[in-house]
Amino acid sequence: MSNFKDHVDSIARAAIACGALQSIPTEAQVLEQGGLKYLVRVLDNLKRKDEARARLERAGSHNTNPFLPYEEALYVGDVGDYHRCLLNKFNVVKQHLLIVTREFEAQSDLINRRDFAALAEVMAQLPGLAFYNGGETAGASQPHKHLQLVPLPMQPFAETPFSQQLRSIRGDKPQRYEGLAFNHAVLQLPAGLFDDLSMAGNRLLEYYRVLREALALGRDSPYNLLLTPDWMLMVPRTAEMWQGISFNALAFCGAILVRDEEQLTQLREGGIMQALVSIS
Ligand code: AMP
Repeated sequence: MSNFKDHVDSIARAAIACGALQSIPTEAQVLEQGGLKYLVRVLDNLKRKDEARARLERAGSHNTNPFLPYEEALYVGDVGDYHRCLLNKFNVVKQHLLIVTREFEAQSDLINRRDFAALAEVMAQLPGLAFYNGGETAGASQPHKHLQLVPLPMQPFAETPFSQQLRSIRGDKPQRYEGLAFNHAVLQLPAGLFDDLSMAGNRLLEYYRVLREALALGRDSPYNLLLTPDWMLMVPRTAEMWQGISFNALAFCGAILVRDEEQLTQLREGGIMQALVSIS
């Protein structure tokens, strides 16, 4: 694949044309609270998403795993020997990729060296923000193992809303950034980690383990993982929702998705950081 981004774009165009890719329109705004800026997206029509999902479930009533078999039109390519890359069918941002295991593995399983090696291979071609919703409580809707990758920057931010904070972390030992009040551990990834793909999987796995240890995460504890080429952040989860609003990994880099104006008002009044604190 000479230009992976172009390849992804051309698959996406064809997938839109045949109706396989059903992007979710949102309206984005920047909300400032407590000295932090958040990117808040409000769904234009969640109804359409729900209907699309219901259709999907009906169509595959004998098989409710959307990644096995996957939809051919959403197939981007194989990654290594154990994974494939798919377009996220219901994407909020362009080029939202899923890296799924070819055989069934559970989302509740730990991320392993093969998974990180596959992720590194894709990230080396399309640098962005990778994330993992480890368990339903952490926002996962599919039980088949899938890492996710979205391109950066999240405009109008230079990278992600919290990147200014997260990029200021120095050193590859787990730390807590005091300005982010939710429970977490974060570390700086060494420069050039993605240059040597033969080692990148192992190295990412090591950092993942270090963060898990720092947070004393149990084998089945739900958590979110987020990483860019510069940092890796882990957040233990105690709840999926705050006041009926569901949060996934992206919330912890400051990117929040809500269903409607009512939920936006709840967050304005209750405070986004308070919500994040209460679920971590
Ligand atoms: P999560 O909700 O974090 O578990 O991520 C799973 C993602 O899979 C969701 O963002 C869905 O939009 C996406 N999805 C659902 N059905 C399909 C499908 N048939 N093909 C590709 N992606 C899908």
